[in-house]
This record gives sequence, C-alpha cells and structure tokens, in this order.
Amino acid sequence: MTFKDLNLSNPLWNALDDASLVHPTSIQSRAYPVVMSGRDVLGIAQTGTGKTIAFLLPLLRMWTFTKTRHPQILIIVPTRELVVQVADEAQKLTKYMNAVVKGVYGGTNLKTQAYELAEGADVLIGTPGRLLDLAYHGTLNLRAVKKLVIDEVDEMLALGFRKQLTDILELLPEKRQNLLFSATLSDEVDEMLQEHFNNPEVVEAAPPGTPVENITQSVYRVPNSNTKVNLLKALLSGQKEMSRVLVFVSTKNLADTLYERLQEAMPEQTGIIHSNKDQNYRFNAVRQFKEGNTRVLIATDIIARGIDVEDVSHVVNFDLPDQPEDYIHRIGRTGRAGKNGVAISLVSDFETELLEQIETFLGQKTEVLAVPQDVEISVVLTDSEMPEVKMKNILIKLPSGPAGAFHEKKEKNQKQNIRVSHRQKMREKYGKPKTRGQKAKKK
Ligand code: AMP
Repeated sequence: MTFKDLNLSNPLWNALDDASLVHPTSIQSRAYPVVMSGRDVLGIAQTGTGKTIAFLLPLLRMWTFTKTRHPQILIIVPTRELVVQVADEAQKLTKYMNAVVKGVYGGTNLKTQAYELAEGADVLIGTPGRLLDLAYHGTLNLRAVKKLVIDEVDEMLALGFRKQLTDILELLPEKRQNLLFSATLSDEVDEMLQEHFNNPEVVEAAPPGTPVENITQSVYRVPNSNTKVNLLKALLSGQKEMSRVLVFVSTKNLADTLYERLQEAMPEQTGIIHSNKDQNYRFNAVRQFKEGNTRVLIATDIIARGIDVEDVSHVVNFDLPDQPEDYIHRIGRTGRAGKNGVAISLVSDFETELLEQIETFLGQKTEVLAVPQDVEISVVLTDSEMPEVKMKNILIKLPSGPAGAFHEKKEKNQKQNIRVSHRQKMREKYGKPKTRGQKAKKK
C-alpha cells in the first residue's frame, strides 16, 4: 500500500513525496478512513509508529481556508520537545498549502508568543499550561476549533495535566471532532474518555505489549549500579557499532551521576536531558545527538518521550523502568522505519523482579549475555542500593522547664494523648457487653 491509495489531495501527496514518505504505517492507514468519517477516535499507538502523521494527514485533508485565522486544528501535547516535533511535521505536510502552523509552550516569553499568535494560526500545537495562559490572556481564541487532538493522553494524565485539559475542553466549541492518542489504555485514560468524549472508535497501531520484531533485546546481569557504569564504559569503548546510543535512567540524580562518569571516561561524547535542565540546554543536547556530535544521550523517561531521533543504533536501559509499558517505549526508540535496532538492559540483583515483570509482559525471556571479563565488578553500593538500617526508636526524656514558664499552657489547653482502647470507649458508652451466650439466649 502507498499514500496514493489514501484519498489525499495533491498538495499533501507532493509534500509526502518531498519528505520521501511512500508507504503509510499501520496506524496511518487504519486511522485515515475513521478520522475522515468524522468520528471521534482513540488511537493506541506509541511514539515511532508514525502516529503524528496519522492524525495530521486526515485533519489537513479536511482543513479549509477561513479568513478568521483562529486555529481550526488544536493539537495538545505534553512536552515542549513534542510541540517542536509535531510542528515540524505539520510544516512539512503543509508545504504546498496555505495553512499557517504555530507552536506554543511554556518556559518562554508569553508576550512574544501572544504577539506571534495574534498574527493568526490555522494549526496550533501547544502544551496545556501555555495554551490556557494564552486563552486567559485573550490572545488565543478557541471558538473556531473544529478538530482537537490530544497526543500522549496517558503521559499527559501521568504528568498531572488533567485539570488543565478539562479547562481547555470547556473553552472549546461543543461541536468538534476529537482525536486522542495514547500508548496505553490505562484506567485513567478510560475514565477521561468516559467523562469527556463521545464513544471514540479505537484504532490500534499494534497490540500493546507486542515487542518490536526488528529489535534485538538482551540483558547483562551485574551485581550493582557501579558495575553497570564499568560495563557501559567497556561496551562503548569496545563496540564501535554503538554509534548513536540512547541511555535511559529512571531518576535525574542517577542521570547526572552517570553523565559525570561517562564524561570523565570519554570527554565530549555524551549529552544529557532531564527536567531540571533548561529548555535551551535540552534542545541543544538533542541536536548535538541528532547531528552525531555526541555519541551518547542520557535521558529520563518523561523527557525522552516523544523525542524523535533517527537511526538510534542502541537503546541502553541503565536501569529497568518500573512499568513494563515504559520498557516498550524505551526500546522503541531504536529499530525505526524498518531498520534493525539493539536494546541492552543492565540488570542488577536489585531489579530481578522488574525483569521478570517485563518478561511476563512481553511473553518471552530475554537473552542473557556474558559480562566481558575485563569489566571490573564493583563491591561499592550506591546509597539507594544500601540495605535499609532499622533504628530503634529511643525516646529521650527532656528535663521539664522551670515552674511557671512564660509559655506554660493553660490547663484546659494541655493536650494529652491518653490512649483509650475502642473496647473501653464502647464500654463507657454502652456498659458491659453481653457475652455470645447471653445474646443467643435472648433470641
Ligand atoms: P511518530 O510516531 O509520529 O513519532 O513518528 C516517528 C518517525 O517516523 C518520524 O520521524 C516520522 O517522520 C517517521 N514516519 C512517519 N510516518 C512514516 C512513514 N509512513 N514512512 C516512514 N517514516 C515515517
């Protein structure tokens, strides 16, 4: 099947040609007719499945020019990186149309964005907070919105954007088409659907949990986190084919520590992104990685969501994610567009259970590779790996102050925690309880 089989228009076909896009992905071919029918749609698709073009194509196909220049298509995404990425794809696809595409996100000057928006936008992409600010500011008029897309709904809810989303929904015209995209159909997502959307038709890219076939997955078993650092350094210096390596870690602190240690071993080859890094730093780190100036990019799950880097040769799970679904998101960053990818997980003794959960979720065992002999096995544990020491709660009796101290409480204000058992309280209230024998006799 090619894009020619979809009932598109010349401007869109030409734009797809220019971007060398020929064959629609599964979510693109499945979603197209359903979106074109005007129904609400819930697309279950992860990043990397081509979901962005899946919603953009039919929406742009249905778009018509109006003079008002208030957005007709509103796309809400959870992160600034995604705003930029979706806006890029929309720009590409509208190359031969006169639709104006704009992106707005927080952390940058509101006035500048308000000023730009005032000049008009047909397709607006934004993060929830900034969209609301602009709407309340009066610059953004949402009354012309005919098509709403909420991308990464699960992530949006996990990040606590529920309230902002519902506030935006209230500002939209009731008559509109809604497209929601989510990697998973969690209870939270389902609840949101029930409350605000009109029985959307579900379109799936691939059943969730299906491992991506062209990704080779393997595991190294090591005793602890410090050994992982040694192993990662050894793998990077020994395997030249690890040319563009995305390393996932679950916390910012761990990301910082790993970054420092890789910088020491291989200066200037590593970048890092997490939510404590400012916007410019993050854009720059991703750009350096995309352009091949750095070989390794260390990222936490949330920030890495949706970041699109082509040709990631290896995904390394420096630690395992708590949710098996996140494992799928992570490894899906390699092996894109029909290419082969490699996913390597470094699993310590503390993560055995997580590995088992992931394998159950995938329905398959992951191959365990032998740790190269020259890797130093560390015996030093990190703080989080240290066993918890249970301390006895020793109460120290403080000497009582001098009599009649300045702040002495009045007698009635003195709170005393006198423990009264439930049984005793009931007894005071209702008297001595009857025994079972007495009760039985009464019957
Ligand atoms: P997404 O899942 O929307 O983040 O897209 C992932 C990547 O796949 C992006 O770089 C797209 O440009 C690319 N892509 C989307 N659709 C296609 C397609 N039909 N053929 C090849 N690449 C595509």
